[in-house]
Amino acid sequence: MELIDGNAIAATLIAELKATVAALPGRAPCLALVRVGEDPASVSYVRKKEKTAAELGVTSRVILPAITVTQAELEQLIDDLNADPAVDGILVQSPLPTHLDELAIFRRVDPAKDVDGFHTLNLGKIAQEDATGFVACTPAGIMELLTRSQVDLAGKHVVVLGRSLIVGKPVALLALQKKTGANATVTVCHSGTRDLSSITRLADVLIAAIGRAEFVTADMIKPGAVVIDVGINRVADASKKTGYRLTGDVHFPSVSPLCSKITPVPGGVGPMTVALLMHNTIKARRQRLGPTTR
Ligand code: NDP
Repeated sequence: MELIDGNAIAATLIAELKATVAALPGRAPCLALVRVGEDPASVSYVRKKEKTAAELGVTSRVILPAITVTQAELEQLIDDLNADPAVDGILVQSPLPTHLDELAIFRRVDPAKDVDGFHTLNLGKIAQEDATGFVACTPAGIMELLTRSQVDLAGKHVVVLGRSLIVGKPVALLALQKKTGANATVTVCHSGTRDLSSITRLADVLIAAIGRAEFVTADMIKPGAVVIDVGINRVADASKKTGYRLTGDVHFPSVSPLCSKITPVPGGVGPMTVALLMHNTIKARRQRLGPTTR
C-alpha cells in the first residue's frame, strides 16, 4: 500500500504557482475571502487560505460581515467585489448561517471571479468540457492528486460516494471527461443507493465524500483499489487537547492494507483544496490580463 501524500503534492504545486505569480506582469493577483460568522472550521479554513496566499505572493482581502448581515446586504457586498477592478477572485466561505440563501450568493458572484467554481456557469462548463471555467477546488484537487500519483483513470471504474455540488457531482463529471487522465466509467452513489457495498466493491478507484466518519469499511473495497478519502469529520476524543480528532469517511486501519494507494486524513485531499484555490485565483488574474499571459 502506498500513501498518497497530499501535503507533499500540494507543496510541489504551491512552489510551481509561486513561480507563476512571480512571472506575472503588473500587480499581484487578489483574492477576496468573505466569511460570515465564527464557525470554528470556517475560521481555520479562511486563515489557512490567507496564509497560503501570502506564501505565494497573492494578495488576500478578508471581509467579515456581521452574523446579522441580510441577504440583500451580502448580495450588495458581492456586487461591489464583482465591480472592483482590484479583485480577481471571490470566495464566500461555506457554510453560511442558515438565514442566508447560500446558492443564491454563489450565483451572485461574477463567473469570471468565481474561483470556488460554484456558479452555475462554471459547473456547466465542466459538463461541456470547457477549460475556460473554474473547477471547484476540492474536485480539482482530487484530479490533481490522482494525476500526480500516476493514477490514470482511463477505462477504470470510478465509484463516487456522495452527490453534493461541492464534491460528488463535479468530481464525477471530471472523471467522466473524454480527456487524458480521465475517461473513466463512473458510478455515483448516495443515500438512496441500494446495496452500496456491492457497488463500491466494483470500484478500481473509490472517492468517498459523504461526511460520515469511518463509514467505508474493508468489506466495501476491491483488493488493489485506489481510495480517495475526502471526508473531514470531527470525532470526540478525550485524549486530545481540543477534545476531538479529525477522521475521514474511510476506516483507515482496516481499509488501507487492501489498497494499492490511499489518501490519509488529515494530509490527503485537504491541502490540495487550498492549493487549487490559489491556482484558480491566478487563472482568474491571467484571464483578466488577456490572452498573452494565459
Ligand atoms: P454533503 O453533506 O453536501 O453531501 C454528502 C453526500 O453523501 C450526499 O450526496 C448524501 O446523499 C451522501 N450520503 C450521506 N450519507 C450517506 C449514506 N449513508 N450512504 C450513501 N450516501 C450517503 O457533503 P459534502 O460533499 O460537502 O462533503 C462530504 C465530506 O467531505 C464532508 O466530510 C466534508 O467535511 C468533506 N469535505 C472536505 C473537503 C476537503 O477539502 N478535504 C472539502 C469539502 C468537503 P444524499 O444526496 O442522498 O443526501
